[in-house]
Amino acid sequence: MANYFLDSPELEFHLHHPLMKKIVELKERNFEDKDKYEDAPVDYEDAIENYKRLLEITGDITANIIEPNSESVDEEGPHLVDGRMVYASKTFENLDATRKAGLWGVSMPRRYGGLNLPITPYSMASEMMATADAGFQNIWSLQDCIETLYEFGNEEQRKKYIPRVCQGETMSMDLTEPDAGSDLQSAMLKATYSEKDGCWLLNGVKRFITNGDSDIHLVLARSEEGTKDGRGLSMFIYDKRQGGVTVRHIEHKLYSRFSYV
Ligand SMILES: Cc1cc2nc3c(=O)[nH]c(=O)nc-3n(C[C@H](O)[C@H](O)[C@H](O)COP(=O)(O)OP(=O)(O)OC[C@H]3O[C@@H](n4cnc5c(N)ncnc54)[C@H](O)[C@@H]3O)c2cc1C
Repeated sequence: MANYFLDSPELEFHLHHPLMKKIVELKERNFEDKDKYEDAPVDYEDAIENYKRLLEITGDITANIIEPNSESVDEEGPHLVDGRMVYASKTFENLDATRKAGLWGVSMPRRYGGLNLPITPYSMASEMMATADAGFQNIWSLQDCIETLYEFGNEEQRKKYIPRVCQGETMSMDLTEPDAGSDLQSAMLKATYSEKDGCWLLNGVKRFITNGDSDIHLVLARSEEGTKDGRGLSMFIYDKRQGGVTVRHIEHKLYSRFSYV
């Protein structure tokens, strides 16, 4: 049976980079989780064995579920239904398989339900996803947006959103607008604080957003009225459960098959 990890010895090479020991020690903070969590590594060798086990599972899922589904996902594509994006049927199978294998929120600390993976094994898993299906790799690897929330969010936001991503909720990064692409500082989507609702209300249009109907979005918006450059912008969390967003159009951005005449 095919396995994208076991069948590609050049991938494992990354785990043996001389810097890995330092990276693992920093990420594991000298293995301080070892007495708190059953799955936490006790030392460097144990951590590498953990990564290998996880990458082997990823190698199995990518080769035997995601790759065989990829043609059907490409043929069917996502659908626009009543202002919502609905994935191709087999994308749901891919999501289900990766969720059951615990491949979501993998880089997040264990206290939020993550696996505390360093970027190297995360990137190796991402490479296998891309080998199987470049489109699904985008959906899966956008879980990386959670790093921004972890780094810059407060503890209340972390506790609310990180466990959801670790359970398999999807993410997107909503920056581009019809008049703000390369020149991102000109983003104009408006953020207004509502005393009545006790939260910020966002009003405007984004476009070209990969996985743009995800569960949890990070949205760049103008929070300082009267500003025109980067200094009046802030990043907001949009939770799809709250509603209020309509998908107008699905871009045909990624095709893996071409016909030449
Ligand atoms: C596959 C794909 C996925 C994407 N996913 C996301 C996403 O998840 N989230 C998100 O926010 N956005 C996403 N985008 C949008 C992407 O970030 C923008 O397309 C990009 O920032 C460029 O903006 P634009 O398309 O408006 O082009 P423009 O900024 O209008 O540029 C048009 C052309 O002008 C050139 N140009 C622009 N400024 C200058 C300059 N000063 N000097 C010389 N030449 C210039 C550019 O090189 C380009 O050739 C995605 C785009 C693609 C294609």
